[in-house]
Amino acid sequence: MTIQDRENRHTSGLYTKRPIAIVRGQGARLWDSDGHEYIDCVGGQGAGNLGHANPVVAKAIADQAATLIACPEMFYNDQRAALLEKLTAIAPAGLSRAFLCNSGAEANEAAFKFARVQTGRREIIAFMRGFHGRTMGALSATWEKKYREPFEPLVPDFTHLAYNDLAALEAAVTEKTAAVVLEVIQGEGGVRPGTAEFLLGAQKLCRERGALLIVDEVQTGFGRTGAMFASEHHGLQPDILCLAKSIAGGLPMGAVLFNDRVGQLPPQVHGSTFGGNPLACAAALAAIGYLESEHLPDRAAELGAWFLERLSQIKSPLIREVRGRGLMVGLELKQKVTPYLQALMTDHRVLALPAGLTVMRFLPPLVIAQTELAQAAAAVEAVLTRPLKAAAGEAD
Ligand SMILES: *Cc1c(COP(=O)(O)O)cnc(C)c1O
Repeated sequence: MTIQDRENRHTSGLYTKRPIAIVRGQGARLWDSDGHEYIDCVGGQGAGNLGHANPVVAKAIADQAATLIACPEMFYNDQRAALLEKLTAIAPAGLSRAFLCNSGAEANEAAFKFARVQTGRREIIAFMRGFHGRTMGALSATWEKKYREPFEPLVPDFTHLAYNDLAALEAAVTEKTAAVVLEVIQGEGGVRPGTAEFLLGAQKLCRERGALLIVDEVQTGFGRTGAMFASEHHGLQPDILCLAKSIAGGLPMGAVLFNDRVGQLPPQVHGSTFGGNPLACAAALAAIGYLESEHLPDRAAELGAWFLERLSQIKSPLIREVRGRGLMVGLELKQKVTPYLQALMTDHRVLALPAGLTVMRFLPPLVIAQTELAQAAAAVEAVLTRPLKAAAGEAD
């Protein structure tokens, strides 16, 4: 029986799967169980910034696994202490404390709880096309109907405004607003950058009206957009910063950093068994060290600018827009992307992501070689300028 058959028998059914079984990775390359080699522009859906089988991260994980894996936060720990110092040192100004958890959704859940408990207010303002995760609280801030509707009623007092519409936000932030939560560049929503005016305007409104600004950098963090954090592009200073995905080089981890406007949290109001475990902390320390020593944010800026320009030169009537920052790039089509993603995979062995129905999204590991990116771009050009072969099923 194939790997695919074995998974299909027992898998949850939640995922629209592609028909290949990935068994190995190296840098920006992946291999399937038939030995085919792929250029990876999925990048673990954003968790793979450091590249597959990163030797520095792998060694840190192996060393720490042989030393201590589980250690709840009721005890202090050397790896955790070092990571808290590192995270707060590299974060935008003022974010001097952190809660450690295990995923992006969990980071947002915690952020909403912190905002409510510290402001004594209830309302959370989120945005159309925003994505913040799929647990009940995080889902309440997520916009996409198909994720939300089957699970209603969700958490009360969440609203969604048009993204990049500062006037709408100005009218909505009141003395009841606990927090405004936004992405600097909306990822799942289609790689849509926030304008400086909107982002800094949101920050100003929050400060003036006693609300907290939660910035969700789960996808944009750790070098992806050409800076360690996308907030840096605008001098944005979140009150609460949510992180996950590539924080620990691909190992599950999340973090919520916060400033003095949040202050120190009351004991026992939140917590996590796995949060701040030494294994994830050691992996994160190694990952951040590697990002810094290899200047991966700068690399993402340079290669990303080149890639965006290269994609922009593709002449195809199918393309509506190419946009993004660093190595977070979206190519919006005038029609559904699924058949094109599938052709990229089967005909060119290039893996890329959708973002919504019509946007092709590229999140390659930041260690990708320019020749590999060039190959990916040539493949995109080929699938968008030549007739597709008959589609043989759905990729997602
Ligand atoms: C992926 C993502 C999340 C959810 O992270 P999970 O680890 O899947 O829970 C939240 N916010 C943003 C912006 C994301 O891209």
